[in-house]
Amino acid sequence: MKKTIRDYDLEDKKVIIRCDFNVPIKDNKITDDNRIKMSLETIKYAIDNNAKVILMSHLGRVETKQDKEKNSLKIVADRLSELLNQDVIFIDETRGKKLENAINSLKRKEVLLIENTRFEDLNGQKESKNDPELGKYWASLGDIFINDAFGTCHRAHASNVGIASNLQNGIGFLVEKEIEEISDTLENPDRPFTVILGGSKVKDKIKVIENLVKIADYILIGGGMAFTFLKSEGYEIGSSLLDIENLEFCKNILEQYGNKIILPVDTVCSKEITEISSFYEKDINNIENDDIGLDIGSKTIEIFKKVIEKSNTVIWNGPVGMFEMTKYSKGTKGICEALKLNKGKKIVGGGDTASAVINFGYKDYMTHISTGGGASLELLEGKILPGIGIIDEKK
Ligand code: AMP
Repeated sequence: MKKTIRDYDLEDKKVIIRCDFNVPIKDNKITDDNRIKMSLETIKYAIDNNAKVILMSHLGRVETKQDKEKNSLKIVADRLSELLNQDVIFIDETRGKKLENAINSLKRKEVLLIENTRFEDLNGQKESKNDPELGKYWASLGDIFINDAFGTCHRAHASNVGIASNLQNGIGFLVEKEIEEISDTLENPDRPFTVILGGSKVKDKIKVIENLVKIADYILIGGGMAFTFLKSEGYEIGSSLLDIENLEFCKNILEQYGNKIILPVDTVCSKEITEISSFYEKDINNIENDDIGLDIGSKTIEIFKKVIEKSNTVIWNGPVGMFEMTKYSKGTKGICEALKLNKGKKIVGGGDTASAVINFGYKDYMTHISTGGGASLELLEGKILPGIGIIDEKK
């Protein structure tokens, strides 16, 4: 078990919290402040426990001097002040006397936000390449380090692994919840345990499939990736997505674990991917050369629903159709509906799947919606994420 923020006496300590404030910004406005809101629990805990709170985060990519202008965290400091209902001291530097003086004059319960950690990337990618000196320097600014930025846990950066290597540390509430909901569930799922996989390419999910096929009782495969599996079984898939390099992989997985894997029996297809093109349902064995499969069909939805209904744990990663277009969203909505009715544990991961669930109005029916795309995929792969692996274990 990893140490958490609760394992430390924070009173008058300089507590560095690595947050994920990587929010979307358009025309100098934050268009979605959800990530800031989600960080509040850990930040408020530190304030309530009389810490001197030092916050760090990255924002976007910083590759040129112009990137610095549009990726300053000042806008986040302003929003955070409103949400916390207290001043957030913003320091527009990532190192140096100004920052050190501001930190040294912090009083208990005060909150300070350091400028975008990726400003250090302009200087030889020091943040993203986990420059040892930078991690050590940032660690020297505090007494305790808390990693609460799940979205970057699959990367070893100076602002997570670098600091944690040089300072006593723990995880925040967000990271703790992700570990509990994903890793702990995979270790001991309440069965039947069903995994729903979709999305575009097999390539991106090979390791997830390899790991989960051993643990799950059922694997439902939809989305673009289903067609490579179908092709490997000898079906004509027309002009649907094909990940030809992984045809052999799909064939082998089906040979070994065919009894657990459920593939679509029908699909919603079209001759072209446009808003105006007509669409129709076809059984999988009737697909013609110029058909493009863009969603699972109604028979498949029913089959998937029945499996979901009898499952006690479901993990879902990847939409089962091109859900961004209403006409190909029925399958993904059908899965949402089945999960709504299911009383077990329901975990959703991946950026697209999470946004489908939220946009279609099913957020409150899920046990957990994972916040990190790449990071949650790597947890599903069974990997130890560097940003979590480096955290001290509870004695
Ligand atoms: P991923 O990032 O791999 O989870 O893929 C998500 C994307 O897969 C979404 O943008 C969907 O539109 C797309 N997708 C889902 N089903 C299909 C399909 N049958 N054909 C093409 N793209 C699809």
